[in-house]
Amino acid sequence: MEKLKKGYLFPEISIRHEAHLKKYPDAKVISLGIGDTTEPIPSIITSAMAEYAIALSTPEGYEGYGPEQGQKSLRKVISEKIYPNMGIKESEVFISDGAQCDIARLQMLFGSDVTIAVQDPTFPGYVDNGVIMGQTGKADESGKYAGIAYMRCAPENSFFPDLSSVPRTDVIFFCSPNNPTGHVASHAQLRELVDFARRNGSIIVFDSAYAWYVSEEEEGSNKKPRSIYEVPGAREVAIEISSFSKFAGFTGVRLGWAVVPDELRYADGSPVARDFDRVVCTCFNGASSVAQAGGLACLSSEQGRDAVRRVVDVYKQNARLLVDTFADLGKEVYGGAHSPYVWVRFPGRKSWDVFAEILDKTHVITVPGTGFGPGGEGFIRVSAFNSRDRVVEAAARLKKFLA
Ligand SMILES: *Cc1c(COP(=O)(O)O)cnc(C)c1O
Repeated sequence: MEKLKKGYLFPEISIRHEAHLKKYPDAKVISLGIGDTTEPIPSIITSAMAEYAIALSTPEGYEGYGPEQGQKSLRKVISEKIYPNMGIKESEVFISDGAQCDIARLQMLFGSDVTIAVQDPTFPGYVDNGVIMGQTGKADESGKYAGIAYMRCAPENSFFPDLSSVPRTDVIFFCSPNNPTGHVASHAQLRELVDFARRNGSIIVFDSAYAWYVSEEEEGSNKKPRSIYEVPGAREVAIEISSFSKFAGFTGVRLGWAVVPDELRYADGSPVARDFDRVVCTCFNGASSVAQAGGLACLSSEQGRDAVRRVVDVYKQNARLLVDTFADLGKEVYGGAHSPYVWVRFPGRKSWDVFAEILDKTHVITVPGTGFGPGGEGFIRVSAFNSRDRVVEAAARLKKFLA
């Protein structure tokens, strides 16, 4: 615990937000910072949860503990609707209370003796849970922990590491569409990653929390993968974690899942799924049944799926506006097309300085890129999670300030 870097990113941003409000008590601060959803949950989903909850007050509708791995109906609809033609079985889907929690449970399963690789920059959960488990040494000046392989992902390498320079590790955490860069890996890139893991006997933990943001407009070989299981051979090397948080607004409701395929084996041939099942039964006891009723309503009907797609479209339109705003200003801007995140470069500048200057001049909160690893220096992340009106207002302020 002592090795963890002190100021966790978002608490530090909150502190600066408060200080800003002291300095400018009348400022209308717009947050394009923390990746939390803002649009209401479609009522087809909340009414299913309400109905389920009210039935709990009746003798017929009452249910206690459910299966630790999740309700069969939800596991089935995920295997069919999220993984069509990918050969994922209902029994391979483990329902959870969110991807963050699955990261922690997977790190607990892997233990303290494994080596891990992460993208740099990256979502902080993989590294921080590894530090808590005792997988690493201390952090250096730049914030890199000893013992972790950092795979730099930048515009210069199409946000994909040169794998010939990446050392073998037991586990590789990989997030696509990526938080924070907004980059979605291509089929060719994921094929390279899967081949690399197969050669090295590594396990990939693929985080697809933003899969629903992948645009379907592109055709043929340009169409971007939404799941690692679109790549041949992935079943033998990859676990996929995902979540209802960012596509259905369940950040507060809490629901996610992990896929652990039967073919994923340790070096001695024993199945990883058996141990993961044991961890889930021992440390978790299953996701809230009310949340699972909501998840089922999201996925089991065309109306449910359309309703969440419309919400995702709101954020994607916001993202497009932010991309256009920075592009019009002549900034180097990435992401936003298959992601709610826009990644903007400020060459030669420190991320925290850019964050502070934007906040001071526009009252808009962003996130400094270094919060996601040393590879984020010189960038800021701008989130599209806010109402259309506020994003329009923020874009106008940014235009004025940066012009
Ligand atoms: C938000 C986020 C999560 C956390 O999801 P929960 O299901 O809410 O725990 C996981 N991974 C990434 C990359 C995220 O951005």
